[in-house]
Order: sequence, then C-alpha cells, then structure tokens
Amino acid sequence: MPRRVYLQTFGCQMNEYDTELVRSVLRDRGFAFTSEPAAADVLLMNTCAIREHAHARVHGRLAQWKTLKRTRPVVIGVLGCMAQNLKQELLDAHPAIDVLAGPDAYRRLPELLAQALERRERAVAVELSEYETYDTILPERAPGVNAWIAIMRGCDNFCTFCVVPYTRGRERSRPARSILDEAHALAARGHRQVTLLGQNVNSYRSPAPDGRDFAELLADVADVPGIERVRWTSPHPRDFPPALLDVVAQHPRVCRHIHLPLQSGSDRMLDMMGRSYTRRDYVALVDDIRRRGDIAITTDVIAGFCTETDDEFRDTYDLVREIEFQSAYVFKYSERKHTIARRKFPDDVPEAVKSERVTRLFDLQREISAAHNRRLIGADVTVLVEGRAKKSSRQWMGHTDANVTVVWDKDAAPFAPGDRATIQVNDASASTLFGVPVPALAPAV
Ligand code: SF4
Repeated sequence: MPRRVYLQTFGCQMNEYDTELVRSVLRDRGFAFTSEPAAADVLLMNTCAIREHAHARVHGRLAQWKTLKRTRPVVIGVLGCMAQNLKQELLDAHPAIDVLAGPDAYRRLPELLAQALERRERAVAVELSEYETYDTILPERAPGVNAWIAIMRGCDNFCTFCVVPYTRGRERSRPARSILDEAHALAARGHRQVTLLGQNVNSYRSPAPDGRDFAELLADVADVPGIERVRWTSPHPRDFPPALLDVVAQHPRVCRHIHLPLQSGSDRMLDMMGRSYTRRDYVALVDDIRRRGDIAITTDVIAGFCTETDDEFRDTYDLVREIEFQSAYVFKYSERKHTIARRKFPDDVPEAVKSERVTRLFDLQREISAAHNRRLIGADVTVLVEGRAKKSSRQWMGHTDANVTVVWDKDAAPFAPGDRATIQVNDASASTLFGVPVPALAPAV
C-alpha cells in the first residue's frame, strides 16, 4: 500500500509552488496524497517564517498532530522557511517532529521519510544550496486557470527586517529554456495564466550562455501559444530597467500591473531597512511607470519598524495617500531570528502603537482602493474566467489586468474557466468589482 501523505501549506506563493514540487517528488517515489490528516501515514506542513503570526499557527498545528500521534503511528514532518530558520530550536520545542527539511532539501524528501518510516530515526536536512533550482522537476499542479512558475530562488538583498536570505539562501536563476518548456507544458494542460515568482524577479539572469534578463524572459513567456496572461512578483524598486517597463506597457498578454514593495515613506527608515532607495527614487519610479499609461501599482508597507517616530510614520501615511496604490499589504514589524535588524536595532515601538499605525494605513488604503474601483462603475473590464466565486456558489469570478477580483451571476452567461470575458461593472467595494457579462463573449482559446 502506498504511504499516504497529508500536506498543508502556510505562507506565500513561493511556498505554494514548493508544495507542488514536493507533491511531484513524492508522487514519483510512490507516495499517495490524502486530504484527511486522520487517514495519513505522513503529516507534512510547508511553513513560513516571515512573521510571528505564521510561527504561532505552526506551533498550534504541531500540538494537534502530536495528539494524533498518540493514537497511532504517524510520521510528522516540517518543511520550508520556519524549519530552515529555527532548525534545532524547533526540534527541541517539538519532540514529535520526525522530519525537518529546508527549502533546498526537497529532492531528498523520499529518503528522509524512509529514514523516519522504516528505521524510526529522526531525519534532518537544512543545508542551503548555491545551485538548487529544481528546474528538472515538473511541479504537480492542481487544475485551474493560473499556474505559478518559480524563475529563481533565494535573495541577495538582505533587507534588515527580512528572513528570506537566511531561509532561502543566495539568488540563483533557472535556465530560461526550462522556464519556457514549463510554460509550454502548462499551456498544453489548459492553464491560461502563469505567474512568474521570485523574491527579486527583476534581478533574474538566465545562466550562460543564454543570459536572458527578466524583461526578455517575461516577453518570451507571454509569447507562448495558449498563455493568455502573464503576471509576476516580486520586484525590488532598485532594479527597474526601462526595457522591463516597456514590456509591461506594450505586450498585450503581460498584465498591466506591478507589485512594487515600498515598505516605508521615511528615508531614515528605508536606510535602516537596507532598501537602497530613497522616497524620491521610489516616487520617480512610480512617475516613470505612470508615464507609460494605465498600469496598476500595488505595494507592501511595514509600520512600526525599529525606532520609527510618529513623524516618520506620517511620512509613510502621506506617501501612501499621495501615490494612491490600487491596493496594499500592510504589516506591523515582526522581529525575526537571524535578521540584521534583530542584531542591530531595538524593536522598541510598542505593539499597541504598531497596531494603531497598521489600522490607520489599512483604513486609508481601503478608501483609496474603493475610490479606484468606484471609478470603474459603468465601464467594461476584461477578465479570465476562473470559476466559482469564493463567497457564493451562485457567482463566478475572475480578475482584471490590475488583479482586482470581479464577480457576476454565473447563470448570466455560459462561460467556462479559461474563457476571456467582458464584464460591465455596476457596483464596487474596496476589494471587488460586481458586474454583468457583456453578451459578446470570446470563445475559449
Ligand atoms: S528583497 Fe524581499 S525577499 Fe529579498 S531581503 Fe528584501 S524583503 Fe526579503
């Protein structure tokens, strides 16, 4: 009987992609998967280390699984960034853990699980690699319109608040050929949109002799027959060559949306964060993007970073109001183990002040996003039909080019997932557009 694996994922899109890699590696070695923890021989979680909240969820889940383990033999494994960042500390905190594997150790998972399953030995693999890009492994994807493609791994930027360089290692780009082969395979399997992933995609460079940069790769992926839309994330504001902006502005299948993490509107905070750009640089880049037409900009902002004063928070607040992002992820600073900030700066902004600043930014951004979306009432927007809406089985959904969710009554038009559809907007909230399909729908490609 194949060993049955229950695999839960926490965290970002890169972790979603890694989970698809893990499924492929284990499936190839005869493992099966179950969606029921109670039916599994192996309980795995792919973890995130970016904020304390993510850690708390993992500790909670491990406590539950430990109880399960008292009722029958089961192997518990922790994968991903939290495993890589905490290592022995996590093993000491949870004796029930049998397998610990970092983001560069997934090829070895079958052996690590065998060690735990067959020889009842603890198995640990947390070495970071300078070469591993998994480019010979085709991830096991769930059917759907969108598919992730990781084009690179790791990050060399060492922003002082960030744990990623310690959990995912140094930057390494996948060969462009393997990325394009994957895009062709995805199109052949009916995926109509791909999202290119990396911690800092715009420093992508295909290994010699190919040498394609990110702008060239993006255009080549968008030219793959059958791929209707290409999205990508995350860039760093520092490396934005005009050629990349031209591809976003001009290529008909590259979404006119850029996720551009700001983090702070204060130069002193940006300097302490090691972001290597100033408020003026960031605004100049936003102006450069907007000179190229209607390109939506979304962002990430941290409130309450070490020693942030009321005035410096004000700088961030005013810049968010000035730029009017389509949407923003707002986080309170969460000190992480191993990071430069933890070593060098006091985490001295009280939690209550951090929360209050996050709430003020969140409320401001919600007003701005709602205003952006209300401006679309009466207009036609084009979406790729994805299927059932999250909140109602009577509604279907898709996303605009700017990645705004659109929902409509599913009985209004006989769409199939992957269809390109035009929806006339008749209402809007901060996060969603509501509308009616315009009759002239495009046939499924
Ligand atoms: S660029 Fe992003 S992933 Fe890299 S260190 Fe900075 S915040 Fe972290």
